Amino acid sequence: MIFVFSAASGAGKTTLMNKVMPNFPNVVYSISATTRKPRPGEVNGTHYFFKTEEEFKEMIEKDELVEWNKVHNNYYGTPKSFVEQKLAEGKDVAFDLDVFGKINFDKVYSQAIGILVLPPSMEELEKRLRLRNTETEETLKLRMENARKETEFALTKGKYEYTIYNGDLEVAAAELKGIMEKYSSFKSSIQSGS
Ligand code: 5GP
Repeated sequence: MIFVFSAASGAGKTTLMNKVMPNFPNVVYSISATTRKPRPGEVNGTHYFFKTEEEFKEMIEKDELVEWNKVHNNYYGTPKSFVEQKLAEGKDVAFDLDVFGKINFDKVYSQAIGILVLPPSMEELEKRLRLRNTETEETLKLRMENARKETEFALTKGKYEYTIYNGDLEVAAAELKGIMEKYSSFKSSIQSGS
């Protein structure tokens, strides 16, 4: 099973995922490659594979990525080897993709279940981004602009099976858990008794 999560940054996707994912031990998170600099606490090979622009472009040239996109002036991409290995091991894989990357991803893995996580409002999104304190005024403005574009694109052209409005974390988490229970192969293997 393949799950794709998309959200504007600050929609609370990471908190939501951290809360729900431990319920699904068969779901592994795909680790993307990026040219973005690590944030404090981020570990290479755990949160992302941190690459130089040169290294990233080499991955593109060698056709090592399922999809890639430039988001907020940095490159992000999904390494093929990790996904293929995990699917071969019988794992479910969850991806965190920007809304444009999801379109390219679907060309390769059309069976993916798309879940769009949105903040309750743009005002709330800006408030959360400011509280997170990871952005400069300039990058915050860029992220807000992108959030508006991404949300509009996702709601009109994106093909998401589910949209979760992350206002109340408990409610959103219960919603996400319900969706994942419906599809995860771990759960279905328990139900079928195999
Ligand atoms: P952040 O810098 O906040 O970790 O991520 C910024 C954006 O990049 C998010 O919208 C996230 O979904 C997206 N992203 C992360 N990894 C990938 C990837 O492998 N491919 C694409 N297309 N987007 C990604």
